[in-house]
Amino acid sequence: MNITERMIHMTQQQYIDESEQVLLHTYTRYQIVLDHGEGAYLYDTDGKKYLDFVAGIAVHALGHGNRELADALKQQLDRLVHVSNLYYTVPLLEAAKKATKAAQMDRVFFTNSGAEAIEGAVKSALKYAYTVKGGTDYEVIAMNHSFHGRTLGALSVTGNEKYRAPFAAFCGAVKFAEFNDLESVRSLLTDKTCAIILEPVQGEGGIYPASQAFLEGVRKLCDENGILLIFDEIQCGMGRTGAMFTWQRFGVKPDIMAAAKALGCGIPVGAFFMTEKVAGKSLTAGDHGSTYAGNPLATTAVSTVLDIYERNHIIDHVNEVAPYLEKKLQELSEQFECIETHRGIGLMQGLVFKKPVADIVKQAIQNGLLLATAGTNIIRFVPPLIITKEQIDEMADKLAAAIKACQ
Ligand SMILES: *Cc1c(COP(=O)(O)O)cnc(C)c1O
Repeated sequence: MNITERMIHMTQQQYIDESEQVLLHTYTRYQIVLDHGEGAYLYDTDGKKYLDFVAGIAVHALGHGNRELADALKQQLDRLVHVSNLYYTVPLLEAAKKATKAAQMDRVFFTNSGAEAIEGAVKSALKYAYTVKGGTDYEVIAMNHSFHGRTLGALSVTGNEKYRAPFAAFCGAVKFAEFNDLESVRSLLTDKTCAIILEPVQGEGGIYPASQAFLEGVRKLCDENGILLIFDEIQCGMGRTGAMFTWQRFGVKPDIMAAAKALGCGIPVGAFFMTEKVAGKSLTAGDHGSTYAGNPLATTAVSTVLDIYERNHIIDHVNEVAPYLEKKLQELSEQFECIETHRGIGLMQGLVFKKPVADIVKQAIQNGLLLATAGTNIIRFVPPLIITKEQIDEMADKLAAAIKACQ
Protein backbone atom coordinates (compact mmCIF):
# COMPACT_ATOMS: atom_id res chain seq x y z
CA MET A 1 0.00 0.00 0.00
CA ASN A 2 1.51 3.34 -0.92
CA ILE A 3 1.09 6.56 1.03
CA THR A 4 -1.79 7.93 -1.06
CA GLU A 5 -3.82 4.74 -0.86
CA ARG A 6 -3.36 4.71 2.90
CA MET A 7 -4.43 8.34 3.20
CA ILE A 8 -7.80 7.72 1.65
CA HIS A 9 -8.34 4.37 3.35
CA MET A 10 -9.80 5.56 6.67
CA THR A 11 -10.24 8.71 8.73
CA GLN A 12 -7.85 9.33 11.62
CA GLN A 13 -10.69 8.69 14.08
CA GLN A 14 -11.30 5.28 12.50
CA TYR A 15 -7.61 4.39 12.78
CA ILE A 16 -7.62 5.50 16.41
CA ASP A 17 -10.78 3.59 17.30
CA GLU A 18 -9.52 0.39 15.67
CA SER A 19 -6.13 0.76 17.37
CA GLU A 20 -7.78 1.04 20.77
CA GLN A 21 -9.53 -2.29 20.12
CA VAL A 22 -6.28 -4.20 19.76
CA LEU A 23 -3.52 -2.33 21.60
CA LEU A 24 -2.84 -2.73 25.29
CA HIS A 25 -3.88 0.48 27.04
CA THR A 26 -0.45 1.53 28.31
CA TYR A 27 -0.28 4.91 26.59
CA THR A 28 -2.49 7.97 26.51
CA ARG A 29 -1.78 8.93 22.93
CA TYR A 30 -2.47 12.24 21.27
CA GLN A 31 -5.34 11.92 18.81
CA ILE A 32 -3.41 12.03 15.54
CA VAL A 33 -2.21 9.29 13.20
CA LEU A 34 1.22 10.08 11.78
CA ASP A 35 2.12 8.89 8.34
CA HIS A 36 5.41 10.28 7.07
CA GLY A 37 8.11 12.78 7.84
CA GLU A 38 10.76 14.96 6.33
CA GLY A 39 13.44 16.80 8.27
CA ALA A 40 11.84 18.53 11.26
CA TYR A 41 8.30 18.01 9.96
CA LEU A 42 5.77 15.20 10.29
CA TYR A 43 2.53 14.67 8.37
CA ASP A 44 -0.61 12.89 9.53
CA THR A 45 -2.75 10.59 7.39
CA ASP A 46 -4.84 13.58 6.26
CA GLY A 47 -1.70 15.36 5.09
CA LYS A 48 -1.63 17.95 7.91
CA LYS A 49 1.91 19.20 8.65
CA TYR A 50 3.46 19.39 12.12
CA LEU A 51 6.72 20.95 13.28
CA ASP A 52 8.29 18.20 15.37
CA PHE A 53 9.92 19.34 18.62
CA VAL A 54 9.66 15.84 20.08
CA ALA A 55 11.74 13.93 17.52
CA GLY A 56 10.32 10.59 18.64
CA ILE A 57 11.47 11.53 22.18
CA ALA A 58 15.01 12.74 21.49
CA VAL A 59 15.58 9.99 18.90
CA HIS A 60 15.54 11.66 15.48
CA ALA A 61 18.67 13.76 15.84
CA LEU A 62 19.03 13.91 12.05
CA GLY A 63 15.34 14.58 11.45
CA HIS A 64 12.92 12.36 9.60
CA GLY A 65 13.70 10.69 6.31
CA ASN A 66 17.46 11.30 6.27
CA ARG A 67 18.42 10.07 2.78
CA GLU A 68 21.93 8.91 3.57
CA LEU A 69 20.80 6.87 6.57
CA ALA A 70 17.86 5.40 4.66
CA ASP A 71 20.10 4.42 1.74
CA ALA A 72 22.69 2.77 3.98
CA LEU A 73 19.93 0.81 5.74
CA LYS A 74 18.33 -0.25 2.45
CA GLN A 75 21.64 -1.56 1.17
CA GLN A 76 22.21 -3.45 4.40
CA LEU A 77 18.65 -4.88 4.26
CA ASP A 78 19.50 -6.41 0.92
CA ARG A 79 22.86 -7.75 2.11
CA LEU A 80 22.38 -9.09 5.65
CA VAL A 81 19.98 -8.27 8.48
CA HIS A 82 20.68 -10.71 11.26
CA VAL A 83 23.01 -13.56 12.13
CA SER A 84 23.04 -13.63 16.01
CA ASN A 85 26.04 -13.07 18.23
CA LEU A 86 27.49 -16.48 17.45
CA TYR A 87 29.46 -14.72 14.68
CA TYR A 88 31.26 -11.49 13.81
CA THR A 89 30.04 -9.03 11.18
CA VAL A 90 31.68 -6.01 9.58
CA PRO A 91 28.92 -3.49 10.53
CA LEU A 92 29.30 -4.63 14.17
CA LEU A 93 33.04 -3.99 14.11
CA GLU A 94 32.65 -0.61 12.41
CA ALA A 95 29.93 0.55 14.80
CA ALA A 96 31.93 -0.61 17.82
CA LYS A 97 35.04 1.25 16.69
CA LYS A 98 33.19 4.48 15.93
CA ALA A 99 30.97 4.34 19.02
CA THR A 100 33.78 3.67 21.51
CA LYS A 101 35.76 6.50 19.94
CA ALA A 102 32.80 8.91 20.21
CA ALA A 103 32.13 7.79 23.79
CA GLN A 104 35.84 7.85 24.73
CA MET A 105 35.31 4.41 26.23
CA ASP A 106 37.19 1.15 25.69
CA ARG A 107 34.46 -1.43 25.21
CA VAL A 108 30.85 -1.57 24.10
CA PHE A 109 27.93 -3.99 24.13
CA PHE A 110 25.07 -3.08 21.77
CA THR A 111 21.49 -3.58 22.97
CA ASN A 112 18.02 -3.23 21.44
CA SER A 113 16.79 -0.40 23.66
CA GLY A 114 17.68 2.08 26.36
CA ALA A 115 16.28 -0.04 29.17
CA GLU A 116 18.42 -2.95 28.04
CA ALA A 117 21.48 -0.71 28.05
CA ILE A 118 20.71 0.12 31.69
CA GLU A 119 20.22 -3.58 32.50
CA GLY A 120 23.66 -4.27 31.05
CA ALA A 121 25.25 -1.31 32.84
CA VAL A 122 23.90 -2.38 36.23
CA LYS A 123 24.80 -6.03 35.62
CA SER A 124 28.33 -4.91 34.73
CA ALA A 125 28.66 -3.06 38.03
CA LEU A 126 27.30 -6.00 40.02
CA LYS A 127 29.66 -8.41 38.29
CA TYR A 128 32.60 -6.06 38.91
CA ALA A 129 31.86 -6.00 42.65
CA TYR A 130 31.39 -9.78 42.64
CA THR A 131 34.81 -10.24 41.00
CA VAL A 132 36.68 -7.65 43.06
CA LYS A 133 35.12 -8.11 46.50
CA GLY A 134 33.18 -11.38 46.29
CA GLY A 135 29.67 -11.77 47.64
CA THR A 136 26.41 -10.87 45.95
CA ASP A 137 24.46 -8.66 48.34
CA TYR A 138 25.27 -5.35 46.66
CA GLU A 139 23.32 -2.11 46.52
CA VAL A 140 23.07 0.65 43.97
CA ILE A 141 22.41 4.32 44.70
CA ALA A 142 20.12 6.03 42.18
CA MET A 143 18.46 9.47 42.15
CA ASN A 144 14.97 10.63 42.97
CA HIS A 145 13.08 11.76 39.83
CA SER A 146 15.38 9.66 37.67
CA PHE A 147 14.15 7.66 34.71
CA HIS A 148 16.06 4.66 33.41
CA GLY A 149 13.46 2.55 31.60
CA ARG A 150 10.62 0.08 32.13
CA THR A 151 12.20 -3.36 32.36
CA LEU A 152 12.48 -4.68 35.92
CA GLY A 153 16.17 -3.90 36.36
CA ALA A 154 15.90 -0.43 34.83
CA LEU A 155 12.71 0.17 36.82
CA SER A 156 14.59 -0.76 40.01
CA VAL A 157 16.85 2.29 39.61
CA THR A 158 14.05 4.60 38.40
CA GLY A 159 13.26 7.17 41.10
CA ASN A 160 9.54 7.44 40.44
CA GLU A 161 7.44 5.64 43.03
CA LYS A 162 4.38 5.57 40.77
CA TYR A 163 6.21 3.57 38.09
CA ARG A 164 7.87 1.20 40.57
CA ALA A 165 5.24 0.46 43.23
CA PRO A 166 3.13 -2.20 41.44
CA PHE A 167 6.27 -4.14 40.54
CA ALA A 168 8.21 -3.69 43.78
CA ALA A 169 8.38 -7.46 44.37
CA PHE A 170 10.85 -7.77 41.50
CA CYS A 171 12.80 -4.54 42.04
CA GLY A 172 16.36 -4.75 43.31
CA ALA A 173 18.41 -3.36 46.18
CA VAL A 174 18.41 0.34 45.36
CA LYS A 175 18.50 3.47 47.53
CA PHE A 176 17.43 6.86 46.22
CA ALA A 177 19.36 10.06 46.85
CA GLU A 178 18.49 13.67 46.03
CA PHE A 179 19.87 14.76 42.67
CA ASN A 180 22.46 17.57 42.95
CA ASP A 181 22.78 16.95 46.71
CA LEU A 182 26.11 15.31 47.43
CA GLU A 183 25.43 14.92 51.16
CA SER A 184 22.30 12.93 50.43
CA VAL A 185 24.34 10.55 48.27
CA ARG A 186 27.06 10.28 50.90
CA SER A 187 24.51 9.48 53.64
CA LEU A 188 23.32 6.41 51.70
CA LEU A 189 26.78 4.93 51.14
CA THR A 190 27.47 1.60 52.82
CA ASP A 191 30.13 -1.05 52.32
CA LYS A 192 27.54 -2.79 50.13
CA THR A 193 27.28 0.08 47.65
CA CYS A 194 28.70 -1.05 44.30
CA ALA A 195 27.54 1.71 41.95
CA ILE A 196 25.95 5.12 41.68
CA ILE A 197 23.74 5.72 38.66
CA LEU A 198 22.49 9.07 37.38
CA GLU A 199 21.48 11.05 34.29
CA PRO A 200 23.80 14.05 33.76
CA VAL A 201 20.62 15.87 32.71
CA GLN A 202 17.48 14.31 34.14
CA GLY A 203 15.00 13.98 31.25
CA GLU A 204 11.59 12.55 32.17
CA GLY A 205 12.07 13.85 35.71
CA GLY A 206 11.79 17.46 34.54
CA ILE A 207 14.92 18.53 32.59
CA TYR A 208 17.26 19.04 35.54
CA PRO A 209 20.94 19.43 34.60
CA ALA A 210 23.47 18.16 37.13
CA SER A 211 25.75 20.77 38.65
CA GLN A 212 29.48 20.64 38.00
CA ALA A 213 30.15 20.34 41.73
CA PHE A 214 27.71 17.45 42.11
CA LEU A 215 29.22 15.41 39.29
CA GLU A 216 32.75 16.06 40.55
CA GLY A 217 31.69 15.23 44.11
CA VAL A 218 30.04 11.96 43.10
CA ARG A 219 33.09 11.00 41.02
CA LYS A 220 35.31 11.61 44.08
CA LEU A 221 33.01 9.60 46.36
CA CYS A 222 33.18 6.70 43.91
CA ASP A 223 36.97 6.85 43.64
CA GLU A 224 37.47 7.01 47.39
CA ASN A 225 35.18 4.06 48.02
CA GLY A 226 35.90 1.75 45.08
CA ILE A 227 32.41 2.32 43.65
CA LEU A 228 31.56 2.49 39.95
CA LEU A 229 29.91 5.55 38.46
CA ILE A 230 27.25 4.86 35.81
CA PHE A 231 25.93 7.66 33.60
CA ASP A 232 22.66 7.23 31.76
CA GLU A 233 23.20 9.33 28.62
CA ILE A 234 20.29 7.72 26.78
CA GLN A 235 18.43 11.03 26.38
CA CYS A 236 21.09 13.69 26.99
CA GLY A 237 23.82 11.98 24.95
CA MET A 238 24.55 11.92 21.20
CA GLY A 239 25.23 15.62 20.83
CA ARG A 240 22.03 16.96 22.35
CA THR A 241 23.82 19.00 25.02
CA GLY A 242 26.51 20.32 22.69
CA ALA A 243 29.09 17.57 23.26
CA MET A 244 28.85 14.03 21.92
CA PHE A 245 28.15 12.92 25.50
CA THR A 246 27.25 15.27 28.32
CA TRP A 247 30.03 14.06 30.63
CA GLN A 248 32.52 15.40 28.07
CA ARG A 249 31.19 18.92 28.72
CA PHE A 250 31.67 18.49 32.45
CA GLY A 251 34.97 16.65 32.20
CA VAL A 252 33.68 14.03 34.65
CA LYS A 253 34.05 10.57 33.16
CA PRO A 254 31.88 7.65 34.24
CA ASP A 255 33.13 4.06 34.48
CA ILE A 256 30.08 2.75 32.65
CA MET A 257 27.76 4.65 30.32
CA ALA A 258 24.44 3.82 28.69
CA ALA A 259 23.32 5.29 25.36
CA ALA A 260 20.32 4.71 23.06
CA LYS A 261 17.64 7.03 21.59
CA ALA A 262 19.58 9.06 18.96
CA LEU A 263 22.25 6.35 18.65
CA GLY A 264 20.31 4.71 15.81
CA CYS A 265 18.15 7.70 14.86
CA GLY A 266 15.01 5.55 14.73
CA ILE A 267 16.41 2.05 14.34
CA PRO A 268 16.01 0.46 17.79
CA VAL A 269 19.51 0.25 19.23
CA GLY A 270 21.23 1.06 22.50
CA ALA A 271 24.63 0.42 23.98
CA PHE A 272 26.49 0.23 27.24
CA PHE A 273 30.12 1.23 27.34
CA MET A 274 32.82 0.76 29.91
CA THR A 275 36.46 1.46 30.59
CA GLU A 276 39.04 -1.29 30.32
CA LYS A 277 39.47 -1.15 34.10
CA VAL A 278 35.85 -2.27 34.54
CA ALA A 279 35.75 -4.61 31.55
CA GLY A 280 38.70 -6.61 32.84
CA LYS A 281 36.77 -7.55 35.99
CA SER A 282 33.19 -7.57 34.78
CA LEU A 283 31.01 -9.45 32.30
CA THR A 284 32.68 -12.38 30.56
CA ALA A 285 31.51 -15.16 28.26
CA GLY A 286 28.15 -16.45 29.39
CA ASP A 287 27.34 -13.48 31.65
CA HIS A 288 25.24 -11.52 29.19
CA GLY A 289 23.70 -11.81 25.75
CA SER A 290 20.86 -10.98 23.41
CA THR A 291 19.71 -12.60 20.19
CA TYR A 292 19.14 -9.44 18.17
CA ALA A 293 21.57 -7.07 19.85
CA GLY A 294 24.16 -5.47 17.59
CA ASN A 295 22.75 -7.03 14.46
CA PRO A 296 24.02 -5.78 11.08
CA LEU A 297 21.00 -3.56 10.45
CA ALA A 298 21.15 -1.85 13.85
CA THR A 299 24.92 -1.41 13.77
CA THR A 300 24.76 -0.03 10.22
CA ALA A 301 22.45 2.62 11.67
CA VAL A 302 24.93 3.45 14.46
CA SER A 303 27.84 3.58 12.09
CA THR A 304 26.07 5.74 9.51
CA VAL A 305 24.64 8.08 12.14
CA LEU A 306 28.10 8.69 13.60
CA ASP A 307 29.51 9.34 10.12
CA ILE A 308 26.78 11.86 9.38
CA TYR A 309 27.36 13.61 12.72
CA GLU A 310 30.99 14.08 11.85
CA ARG A 311 30.60 15.07 8.22
CA ASN A 312 27.69 17.46 8.84
CA HIS A 313 29.19 18.97 12.02
CA ILE A 314 25.99 18.22 13.92
CA ILE A 315 27.46 19.14 17.31
CA ASP A 316 28.72 22.52 16.05
CA HIS A 317 25.21 23.15 14.77
CA VAL A 318 23.74 22.32 18.21
CA ASN A 319 26.09 24.83 19.82
CA GLU A 320 25.06 27.43 17.27
CA VAL A 321 21.27 27.10 17.54
CA ALA A 322 20.84 26.13 21.21
CA PRO A 323 21.50 29.66 22.57
CA TYR A 324 18.80 30.89 20.18
CA LEU A 325 16.30 28.35 21.57
CA GLU A 326 17.19 29.48 25.10
CA LYS A 327 16.69 33.12 24.11
CA LYS A 328 13.25 32.30 22.69
CA LEU A 329 12.28 30.39 25.85
CA GLN A 330 13.47 33.35 27.93
CA GLU A 331 11.27 35.68 25.85
CA LEU A 332 8.27 33.38 26.33
CA SER A 333 8.89 33.30 30.11
CA GLU A 334 8.89 37.11 30.15
CA GLN A 335 5.80 37.34 27.96
CA PHE A 336 3.58 34.92 29.90
CA GLU A 337 2.78 35.16 33.57
CA CYS A 338 1.90 31.45 33.70
CA ILE A 339 5.52 30.47 32.96
CA GLU A 340 7.77 30.14 35.99
CA THR A 341 11.18 29.54 34.44
CA HIS A 342 13.15 27.61 31.84
CA ARG A 343 16.17 25.36 32.21
CA GLY A 344 18.26 22.84 30.31
CA ILE A 345 21.44 22.40 28.32
CA GLY A 346 21.79 22.64 24.55
CA LEU A 347 18.80 21.24 22.65
CA MET A 348 17.41 19.61 25.79
CA GLN A 349 15.30 22.33 27.37
CA GLY A 350 12.30 22.59 29.65
CA LEU A 351 9.76 25.38 30.11
CA VAL A 352 8.34 25.25 33.62
CA PHE A 353 4.75 26.43 34.01
CA LYS A 354 2.82 27.34 37.14
CA LYS A 355 -0.01 25.08 35.96
CA PRO A 356 -0.47 21.75 34.13
CA VAL A 357 0.55 21.97 30.48
CA ALA A 358 -1.57 19.17 28.96
CA ASP A 359 -4.09 21.59 27.39
CA ILE A 360 -1.34 23.77 25.92
CA VAL A 361 0.35 20.76 24.33
CA LYS A 362 -2.98 19.61 22.83
CA GLN A 363 -3.65 23.11 21.51
CA ALA A 364 -0.14 23.23 20.03
CA ILE A 365 -0.89 20.04 18.12
CA GLN A 366 -3.98 21.76 16.68
CA ASN A 367 -1.64 24.61 15.65
CA GLY A 368 0.70 22.15 13.92
CA LEU A 369 3.41 21.84 16.59
CA LEU A 370 4.42 18.66 18.41
CA LEU A 371 5.75 19.07 21.97
CA ALA A 372 6.41 16.60 24.78
CA THR A 373 5.93 17.07 28.51
CA ALA A 374 8.24 16.10 31.37
CA GLY A 375 5.97 15.91 34.40
CA THR A 376 2.64 17.73 34.56
CA ASN A 377 3.92 21.32 34.57
CA ILE A 378 6.88 21.16 32.19
CA ILE A 379 7.05 21.33 28.40
CA ARG A 380 10.12 19.52 27.10
CA PHE A 381 11.98 20.62 23.99
CA VAL A 382 14.05 17.86 22.37
CA PRO A 383 13.90 18.78 18.66
CA PRO A 384 15.91 17.15 15.90
CA LEU A 385 19.48 18.41 16.22
CA ILE A 386 19.24 19.75 12.66
CA ILE A 387 16.61 22.28 13.76
CA THR A 388 17.10 25.77 12.29
CA LYS A 389 16.61 29.21 13.84
CA GLU A 390 13.65 29.79 11.51
CA GLN A 391 12.03 26.60 12.82
CA ILE A 392 12.72 27.73 16.40
CA ASP A 393 10.88 30.97 15.54
CA GLU A 394 8.02 28.96 14.08
CA MET A 395 7.88 26.88 17.26
CA ALA A 396 7.86 29.96 19.51
CA ASP A 397 5.04 31.60 17.51
CA LYS A 398 2.90 28.45 17.52
CA LEU A 399 3.53 27.85 21.22
CA ALA A 400 2.70 31.47 22.11
CA ALA A 401 -0.58 31.14 20.21
CA ALA A 402 -1.35 27.89 22.08
CA ILE A 403 -0.60 29.48 25.48
CA LYS A 404 -2.89 32.43 24.64
CA ALA A 405 -5.67 30.10 23.54
CA CYS A 406 -5.48 28.28 26.88
CA GLN A 407 -5.57 31.35 29.13
C1 LIG B 1 14.22 6.81 27.23
C2 LIG B 1 15.14 6.62 28.38
C3 LIG B 1 15.45 5.35 28.87
C4 LIG B 1 14.79 4.09 28.37
O1 LIG B 1 15.03 3.85 27.03
P1 LIG B 1 14.04 2.85 26.23
O2 LIG B 1 14.65 2.77 24.87
O3 LIG B 1 12.68 3.49 26.26
O4 LIG B 1 14.04 1.56 26.95
C5 LIG B 1 16.38 5.26 29.88
N1 LIG B 1 16.97 6.36 30.39
C6 LIG B 1 16.70 7.59 29.93
C7 LIG B 1 17.41 8.77 30.51
C8 LIG B 1 15.76 7.78 28.93
O5 LIG B 1 15.46 9.00 28.50
